[in-house]
Amino acid sequence: MSHPSGTPGNITHPLPSYLDPQHLGPWGIYLQQVDRVTPYLGSLARWVETLKRPKRALIVDVPIEMDDGTIAHFEGYRVQHNLSRGPGKGGVRFHQDVTLSEVMALSAWMSIKNAAVNVPYGGAKGGIRVDPKKLSRAELERLTRRYTSEIGLLIGPTKDIPAPDVNTNGQIMAWMMDTYSMNVGATATGVVTGKPVDLGGSLGRVEATGRGVFTVGCEAAERIGMQIAGARVAVQGFGNVGGTAGRLFADAGAKVVAVQDHTGSIYNARGLDAAALQAHVQQTGGVAGFAGAEAMANGDFWGVDCDILIPAALEGQLTQDNAGKVKARMVIEGANGPTTPEADDILNDKGVLVLPDVIANAGGVTVSYFEWVQDFSSFFWTEDEINARLVRIMKEAFAAVWQVAQENKVSLRTATFIVACKRILHAREMRGLYP
Ligand code: GLU
Repeated sequence: MSHPSGTPGNITHPLPSYLDPQHLGPWGIYLQQVDRVTPYLGSLARWVETLKRPKRALIVDVPIEMDDGTIAHFEGYRVQHNLSRGPGKGGVRFHQDVTLSEVMALSAWMSIKNAAVNVPYGGAKGGIRVDPKKLSRAELERLTRRYTSEIGLLIGPTKDIPAPDVNTNGQIMAWMMDTYSMNVGATATGVVTGKPVDLGGSLGRVEATGRGVFTVGCEAAERIGMQIAGARVAVQGFGNVGGTAGRLFADAGAKVVAVQDHTGSIYNARGLDAAALQAHVQQTGGVAGFAGAEAMANGDFWGVDCDILIPAALEGQLTQDNAGKVKARMVIEGANGPTTPEADDILNDKGVLVLPDVIANAGGVTVSYFEWVQDFSSFFWTEDEINARLVRIMKEAFAAVWQVAQENKVSLRTATFIVACKRILHAREMRGLYP
């Protein structure tokens, strides 16, 4: 029998066009990342095709009545990429540019991330193509509730557990939890994570992603002989992830010298007051106009003189057009998918150490896991316990990835994929195919 393409032993059918790796959207980038790891999977490579197809993808129409009485329709998605290791897990994003390809890629990165830190979940993600800043609070609530009802087919505390992502927060999780609970006739706190603490949320969850970014950053810095005290840090996106990470680095003696977000870019060579900037962003919605720094041209941000660069906004930010300018020794991906494969290669060739999203920003889902466990047992932990467990998981996961990277002489991204894909495909192999 001949095998014209694909893994020996598999019969490979042509991929549907939306899965075509030539269309390099986020999903195409993810497929390239899987291709890079396949030679390291040994006999498990037989199962690799499983990672290249989402298990389920649901597209839903979300109609709502606007405050002015008109009816508006939005497109929503929930994708379960892989459920071999446990229920689906991953956030919900509200953004005007959300597409199915993007949600598919984000769901796949959740599978990798969850396996990399060894929490017992598969990967999933959801989103609505909407600019939530254009909706009133009442419209946002109606949108969230209708979307939750529509994806009610897929979600549930033991099936698939959403969480916050870009432009979603604790209030939106509270509405999702309530809607699901009303539909099933019982309060089900464990159906979403990232809830307010008074509704079964976990202490430490809001800061967890930024804390994880800081933790792996310190671990990597130690290994390359970089001092955090005095290190210059540039951050793109100063919301939940970038703001917390920036503040933790500043608390540890680093200097946050440049920050960029959708409102502009700011610079202060002496290091800006990260806590004051967080407060400014919360009040005004962005970094522009912050009194403790000068405005800087957006185009100058990537080439800024710094030691640590933290993209913590959206995907596709570090590209072949700007990666060559990067002066940092280390990039820590707070966002999901901020670096294109071309930029990844440019940074690697320059000797810039890239700490990939699938390990660097896994602190959020790690504390989501703690929240889910606390909800199931109805027994809540202290913030110190949560942070200590988070730091331990992040350090152990990072150490394992670092070792695989050294042994195989590969990037940390490929090393994380090796660790994660082996866990997922081993589970797949042990479970077998049914029916
Ligand atoms: N949206 C976050 C992420 O991309 C958190 C997901 C979760 O907690 O389930 O990792």
